[in-house]
Amino acid sequence: MLDQIKIVMVNTTHSGNIGAAARAMKNMGLSRLCLVDPIAAVDEEAVQRSSRAEDILHNVEVVPSLEDAVADCGLVIGTSARSRHIPWPLMTPRQAAAKAREMIPAGNRVALVFGRESRGLTNEELHLCNAHVHIPTEESFSSLNVAQAIQVLCYEMRLALVTEAEEEGAGQWGVAWDYPLATHKELDGLFQHMEKTLIDIGFLDPNTPKQLITRLRRLYQRAAPDKTEVNILRGMLSAAQRKAAQAAAQSDNQPHPQQGEEH
Ligand code: SAH
Repeated sequence: MLDQIKIVMVNTTHSGNIGAAARAMKNMGLSRLCLVDPIAAVDEEAVQRSSRAEDILHNVEVVPSLEDAVADCGLVIGTSARSRHIPWPLMTPRQAAAKAREMIPAGNRVALVFGRESRGLTNEELHLCNAHVHIPTEESFSSLNVAQAIQVLCYEMRLALVTEAEEEGAGQWGVAWDYPLATHKELDGLFQHMEKTLIDIGFLDPNTPKQLITRLRRLYQRAAPDKTEVNILRGMLSAAQRKAAQAAAQSDNQPHPQQGEEH
C-alpha cells in the first residue's frame, strides 16, 4: 500500500535534503520519490545523507512540472508552512493519512507535494492539490526543514496504513469504493471542458480573471470525484454545449430572435 504513495519535491535546492528525504522515506517503507525540475543534483552529498537509501535515489523520477508529477494520482496533498490567500481544505498529517488509507485500497495513487526550501509552493501549485496539510507547530516558528516535514508525513502514512491496519486485522467492515478516483489528469480534462462550456453558455466571460475556475477547481477537488462521476459531469457539459449550439443555430435562422424566448 505504501508503494502507491509518491513523495514529490519541487525545485529542491540542496542535494543533502534530497538524500535526507530518501532516508526518511526508507525508514518508513516508502520508495517512490519524484523530483520536479530540481536545482540540486543527486550527487555524492545526497548519497551520504541518504545513509544507505541509495536505491530510492537510483530509482528517482525527474519530471519538468508538477502537473507531470501528479498526472496519475487520484489524491494530491500539498504541504505548507503558512496559510495562504484563498482558503483550501486543510488537514493535519493524521487526517491526510486517514484519507490516504480510505483511498489506497481501491487502487488510487497518492502524491504528497513538498515545496522549495526558500519559499515553499506557489499558490498555483497549491491550487492543483485536493487538500493541504500543515504540520502543527509554534505559530512564530512554523517552517520545518523539508526532509523533516517529509519524515513527519511518511511516519503518519506508516502509522495509518501499516501499524493501525495490522492492529485492526484484515477483516474490514463495509465494502471498498466501486470505482477508482479520477486522476489529476482526468480532473484537468474536466476543468478545461467546464471552462469552455461555461463560456459557450454565456456564464463565464473569458476576459474576466480566472477566480471562478479556481473556485470550481477547489469544489471538485474537495469532493474528489471518481472516474464515473467525472464521466457523468462531462456528459452533462457536452449536453449543455449541444443545446447551446442548437440554440445559436436556430437564432441564426430567425431574422428577429426574441430574448429569453425559450424560458
Ligand atoms: N519559507 C517557506 C517554507 C519552506 S519549508 C515558506 O514560507 O513557505 C520547505 C517545505 O517544507 C515547504 O514547502 C513544505 O513542503 C514543508 N514544510 C515545512 N514546514 C512545514 C509545516 N509546518 N507544515 C507542512 N509542511 C511544511
